[in-house]
Amino acid sequence: MERVECVVIGAGVVGIAVARALAQAGREVLVLEAAEGIGTETSSRNSEVIHAGIYYPRGSLMAQLCVQGKHMLYDFCRSRGVAHRNCGKLIVATDAAEAERLEAIRQGAAANGVEDLRLLTAAEARAMEPALACTAALVSPSTGIVDSHAYMLTLQGEAEAAGALFVFHSPVRGGHAAADGITLDVGGAEPMTLHASRVINAAGLHAPALARAIAGMPAGQVPTAYYAKGSYFTLAGRAPFSRLVYPVPVPGGLGVHLTIDLGGQARFGPDVEWIDTPEYAVDPARANSFYAAIRRYWPALPDGALQPGYAGVRPKIVPPGGGRQDFVVQGPEVHGLPGLINLFGIESPGLTAAIALAALVRDRAA
Ligand SMILES: Cc1cc2nc3c(=O)[nH]c(=O)nc-3n(C[C@H](O)[C@H](O)[C@H](O)COP(=O)(O)OP(=O)(O)OC[C@H]3O[C@@H](n4cnc5c(N)ncnc54)[C@H](O)[C@@H]3O)c2cc1C
Repeated sequence: MERVECVVIGAGVVGIAVARALAQAGREVLVLEAAEGIGTETSSRNSEVIHAGIYYPRGSLMAQLCVQGKHMLYDFCRSRGVAHRNCGKLIVATDAAEAERLEAIRQGAAANGVEDLRLLTAAEARAMEPALACTAALVSPSTGIVDSHAYMLTLQGEAEAAGALFVFHSPVRGGHAAADGITLDVGGAEPMTLHASRVINAAGLHAPALARAIAGMPAGQVPTAYYAKGSYFTLAGRAPFSRLVYPVPVPGGLGVHLTIDLGGQARFGPDVEWIDTPEYAVDPARANSFYAAIRRYWPALPDGALQPGYAGVRPKIVPPGGGRQDFVVQGPEVHGLPGLINLFGIESPGLTAAIALAALVRDRAA
């Protein structure tokens, strides 16, 4: 049987960042990825926003790792020439009730260490973005956008330069606990059995199912997976905005917001649709609810301007209406299996937080 020091399961942004952190710490690292390449699931089906760290509960891992990760990601992009833009974002209130919530959002952000949010009057917001309709707004100067593929490729390059090996078409089927680590059953064209003293389960949407397939893993410690799909619509023509525009958040997501990619293409989404099995088809009929939501802050959105874009699925571990979830980094102190670290519920802001989350996992795995 092959023996490896560390196996990372999954080559999304989190698995790649973890592989890089472990390899740069001098560990032998093998990344096993079921698909044909990196980042084919949630890591390429998101808004590509560098989040400031505004909405997450104080003291949560999401709050801590988003704020740390944002600074690390900006430094990473600047020093490696990864395309990004610190464009800022506006959170807009469109009635008195929403306007009242802005100050609470500002205070929550400040408690997370995001102290640069500023309340704007409607006139001040319109001076920044003339096409906007609102009664008040918050500006978040540290929000930005990143080319997620360039980000992942650069992380992968650095992981490989430090000695990590990526193997594709290698779905991990399951495994069992051994005294000095985990034995894994790997499928694909050349099935094999592999022993690793450290295993990082970074399988995204499939992380709970994978944990359950490791014999010895206490069932009570594996969360149930729920899936909240988010569809995007792209805008035909250019949007008259230079910043990201978000409504006041809705339960389960951040509301139908406007993001812009580095090529200037505007997209709206993601909405929230709870589904039983991950799938990515965008139903054109969902555009109807988008028009109404967007026209609250951009009344001039032309009829017929929205085209089906793409969809992503949030890896939820809390059911609809079940309260807020946080990132879960679960090690042997919880489940008792030597060497196994499970990453559960790594939804937004996972892209922003990945480098900081990877540093945490590296330290836990030490
Ligand atoms: C709609 C949406 C919008 C988002 N917007 C943002 C945003 O703007 N900013 C932000 O910071 N975050 C955002 N996020 C969150 C971010 O995209 C995720 O947190 C992040 O991409 C998760 O990365 P991951 O590596 O954990 O998972 P994934 O990217 O899903 O990677 C998991 C990998 O594991 C592989 N895998 C699964 N099972 C196995 C197995 N058994 N064996 C081998 N390989 C396996 C998969 O093939 C996949 O490649 C968004 C998420 C969604 C859904």
